[in-house]
Amino acid sequence: MTALLEVEDLRVAYGKIEAVKGISFSVEEGQVVTLIGTNGAGKTTTLRTLSGLIKPLSGKITFGGQSLEKVPAHKIVALGLAHSPEGRHIFPRLTIENNLQLGAYLRNDKAAIAQDIKRAYDLFPILGERRKQAAGTLSGGEQQMLAMGRALMSRPKLLMLDEPSMGLSPIMMQKIMHTIAELKSQGTTILLVEQNAQAALSLADQGHVMEIGKIVLNGTGADLLHDESVRKAYLGED
Ligand code: ATP
Repeated sequence: MTALLEVEDLRVAYGKIEAVKGISFSVEEGQVVTLIGTNGAGKTTTLRTLSGLIKPLSGKITFGGQSLEKVPAHKIVALGLAHSPEGRHIFPRLTIENNLQLGAYLRNDKAAIAQDIKRAYDLFPILGERRKQAAGTLSGGEQQMLAMGRALMSRPKLLMLDEPSMGLSPIMMQKIMHTIAELKSQGTTILLVEQNAQAALSLADQGHVMEIGKIVLNGTGADLLHDESVRKAYLGED
């Protein structure tokens, strides 16, 4: 089977600082794949490069059989790769519903867009209840839900989530992880960047551990959850 996303020997630098030092991984259709690792490992840089927001130094990115390295960001969205960024980046003054509509800006199938907004409200009822309110009035966790809902509005073939649990209460975090599991069960393909290794590996088909720009370990989510070095470094065990 050819993978939906194939990343080969990807290198990315900010000036002289090489943030990603030759990583390779793939995401098959229907899978949840996670990148875990500490602050500064290069996870966000990897997602931003896949989205076309940063140009790589070298390496290959193939999505749905097409090379992405030279494709501009807006065309990458149109190809079916959506990004829910770290820090959310919702539009606080616009209503929740307007934020969702913006996620569909490349589409003009009005009836289907309305259906997808309804689907977002089914996934996250709180967004439906407050759809006419300014998005800035939502709590951090609710804004995260909105960012995910908005990314889904482009009907992506691959949904990239950057630290969806960041800054959330344990209950909110559980909710978000539950929703990711639900999206997976509906067949959504997801590339998940997380610092919460326990939650991410529990969901993931495949996991990759990043340290200072490199993938140092990979395996199934279950294998990594049971790996002694992962447990020591990322799951707080001695
Ligand atoms: P975090 O969880 O903290 O976001 P991360 O694994 O996502 O960590 P990146 O944000 O990709 O890591 O950062 C990788 C490295 O690149 C770090 O050393 C960081 O300081 C550096 N870096 C990130 N963004 C920039 C930038 N705009 N300019 C210069 N260096 C940067």
